[in-house]
Amino acid sequence: MIQQRWVGAHVSAQGGVANAPLNAAAIGATAFALFTKNQRRWTAAALDEPEIAKFKQHCAEHHFSASQILPHDSYLINLGHPDPNMLQKSRDAFLDEMQRCEQLGLTLLNFHPGSHLREISESLCLRNIADSINLVLEQTTGVTAVLENTAGQGSNLGHRFEQLAEIIEQIEDKSRVGVCLDTCHLFAAGYELRTTDAVSKMFAEFDDVVGLKYLKGMHLNDCKSSFGSRVDRHDSLGYGTIGKAAFSAIMAHPATTKIPLILETIRPEIWPEEISWLQTQSR
Ligand SMILES: [Zn+2]
Ligand SMILES: [Zn+2]
Repeated sequence: MIQQRWVGAHVSAQGGVANAPLNAAAIGATAFALFTKNQRRWTAAALDEPEIAKFKQHCAEHHFSASQILPHDSYLINLGHPDPNMLQKSRDAFLDEMQRCEQLGLTLLNFHPGSHLREISESLCLRNIADSINLVLEQTTGVTAVLENTAGQGSNLGHRFEQLAEIIEQIEDKSRVGVCLDTCHLFAAGYELRTTDAVSKMFAEFDDVVGLKYLKGMHLNDCKSSFGSRVDRHDSLGYGTIGKAAFSAIMAHPATTKIPLILETIRPEIWPEEISWLQTQSR
């Protein structure tokens, strides 16, 4: 049976969020990611009603449902910050990000778990992250907090499935927490992906440790850095250290149906080819 996958890229929202679905449609995408505000700033003007209406209209016109859209939060936010003031600042900014998703009718928000900055223990940092998510889930409705696995660069947590599981275990409303697996981050963190067999093993391990029911999206990126290097450098599919076999296997795996599969690869000009190649691998 043919199982169509939802494939797209992290597209630009320059000029307003309503442009993102248009940019996604223009590259033949059936899924997309976006920033709902400038990702390098702490604050942004509120979304206005006409922009929200236009975003929803463009999504409807191009057949993007909320489950095909995976917004990403600001890079500045650290929900596990060791400093109480910076932790609060991060929680306030994350609440704003969740509320923007609510306003846009979106149901997922993808973010990197957090970093201990070598000032607090790993378990305390994971506790801070879980507390942050609990606080924000209490104040919002309808949006699932989607933890992204990391490459483990610096003191970033979330590079081991066990760390993601430890966060999820401490979440009160488990119906509103999920995981996005980034292939470049997996590989750099030491999860082998270079053969069909390795990809199956990775999904099986994820299912054992976290649970496949929590998988809400994937980022499909090849990697410039080497296996287990814990260095986060994306590459175009087939140009990096992972290679195309991994992406064929991922597209054919039952875990990847009905979740957004998002390219964050480094050459937007070849996204249309990458998307159509991925679609051919899923059948
Ligand atoms: Zn990613
Ligand atoms: Zn990355």
